[in-house]
Amino acid sequence: MKQMDTKSLINYIALKILGGSEYIIDALEKYLVKGEGPASVAYEYQISKHQLRGYAQRIIEKSGSEARAKKIIPIIKEISKDIKPIIKKGEDELYTCTICDISVPKEDAEEHVRKYHKDILTATIKTMTERLEEYKKAKNAVILTSVS
Ligand SMILES: [Zn+2]
Repeated sequence: MKQMDTKSLINYIALKILGGSEYIIDALEKYLVKGEGPASVAYEYQISKHQLRGYAQRIIEKSGSEARAKKIIPIIKEISKDIKPIIKKGEDELYTCTICDISVPKEDAEEHVRKYHKDILTATIKTMTERLEEYKKAKNAVILTSVS
C-alpha cells in the first residue's frame, strides 16, 4: 500500500486555508467521511462537483488510500481549526489579501500566499506538523495505557 505523504498533505491544506479555501476541509468531511452526495456538498460550498471530486482525489492520493483519507480528514480539521485565512472571499470571485489590502483573483490566491507570505505559510505548516506529532503521541499514550 502507498505511504501517506504527510508533508505534502499538510502543505496542500495549509495553502488552501491561507488562500481562502478553508471550507474544503468541511466539504471533504461531508463528502468523503460522512458520505453525503457530491451535488449537495458542492452546492453548499458553491463549488462544482468536478472541483469537489478533484479536492477529494488530491487528498486520497496524498493519504495513500481512501480509507486513510477518511481517518486523516477529522484529524486535519482538529489541528487546523484556529488557522485563519490570509485571503478572504468577498463578492463574486473577488478575493482580498487582508495583509496587503489588495484584491486578488481567486485563481491567483494560493500563488499570492506562496509568493508574498511564505513566512506565514512556513509557520502554519510547522504548527500543523507539530500538532499532528502531538496528536500521534497522545494517541499512542492512550493505547499504551489501555494495554497496561
Ligand atoms: Zn498579500
